[in-house]
Amino acid sequence: MRVARREFERNLRVSPELLGRLFRHGAASFEAWTVARPTNDFAVMEPHLRQTIDICREVSACFPGAQHVVDPLIDYFADYGMTTQTLRPIFAELRAALVPLIGAIANQPAPDDSCLHQHFPEGQQLAFGRSVIERLGYDFTRGRQDKAPHPFMTKFNLGDVRITTRVKEHDLSEALFSTIHESGHAMYEQGIRRELDGTPLAGGTSSGVHESQSRLWENLVGRSRGFWRHFYPELQAAFPSQLSNVSLDTFYRAVNKVQRSLIRTDADEVTYNLHIIIRFDLEDELLSGALAVNDLPEAWRARYQSDLGVAPPDDRDGVLQDMHWFALAVGGMFQGYTLGNILSAQLFAAARQAHPSIPEEIARGGFDTLRGWLTANVYQHGSKFTPAELIERATGQPLTTAPYIAYLREKFGELYQI
Ligand code: ZN
Repeated sequence: MRVARREFERNLRVSPELLGRLFRHGAASFEAWTVARPTNDFAVMEPHLRQTIDICREVSACFPGAQHVVDPLIDYFADYGMTTQTLRPIFAELRAALVPLIGAIANQPAPDDSCLHQHFPEGQQLAFGRSVIERLGYDFTRGRQDKAPHPFMTKFNLGDVRITTRVKEHDLSEALFSTIHESGHAMYEQGIRRELDGTPLAGGTSSGVHESQSRLWENLVGRSRGFWRHFYPELQAAFPSQLSNVSLDTFYRAVNKVQRSLIRTDADEVTYNLHIIIRFDLEDELLSGALAVNDLPEAWRARYQSDLGVAPPDDRDGVLQDMHWFALAVGGMFQGYTLGNILSAQLFAAARQAHPSIPEEIARGGFDTLRGWLTANVYQHGSKFTPAELIERATGQPLTTAPYIAYLREKFGELYQI
């Protein structure tokens, strides 16, 4: 009743006329973006983006008690209860840890990842990915996997939770890690108590908590040394001509290569969050009026240069790269990705504390204890708890960056000897 009432009251505040305008404009803007991005034409998108910002300000104004213009949008679109005031210091803490870590990594020799860029036939890649996620616990009797231009998870009901992937025959990591990522989203939905099906509780509680599950399985499990100790011989058997002469250590370093890059969706585990924090800060400036739309490409370049040490040569690989601002909204669009990363480590640490055997189990190809803990503490509840309640109940403390920063420092400190 609490959740149903919250959604009901929230939906009363935003009129159907305003919501209609948001989505109609989003569709028109998206159409324009599909042409403007390949032709590198930010000028075409400027009026669209201005209008998106105006509409989003109107949506925000439907919630007059908010402390900050972005807060109602964070609530409305993605992460209920999270505010600019709580997120800013958390992101600042993370950024302060990441910038020097990435700088130190960049001073070290880059690992050779050419083993990932040989020819890997699509059929074998898909078969291997399926066998992996089946053992992680994705239930194929209540789901299926198909190919799509962009990987995603979609749920029709708790008995039908589907995922997609895309395959690049010259990049082994693309299908493999996107498959594990989407299976993490799907296992969250499949783990919700069946009695909740058809109720407002039958879904993940927020973008951030959802992303914590895709990232936990993709990175903390799927890019760990123990995981590959178990799966690498199988991968070598699936691709003997490509991998029989590549050592486990070389492969492990290749799938964990850190590189400063321009494109968010291609970013590695360490640099990824800087891409998000840049977007989060710029959304704030655009909505509050501190940054004008025509100054956005330059502000984007400046932040990439100062935070990541690389600046895009054009807007196509700069400000135009993500569809979010050009098809959906400005405000509340990006914080969930980094919340997910932070939370993935906090939840994994709590699971490990409850069951210290989890890492050894993973190295033997066993995932039941980890998935069991996640089901008991996260999955089964669906949307019953707010993100903040869920985090506190599952880990005994509020959202904190400490486990995530410790995890990155330990893993990449060892990998890059820093
Ligand atoms: Zn995801």
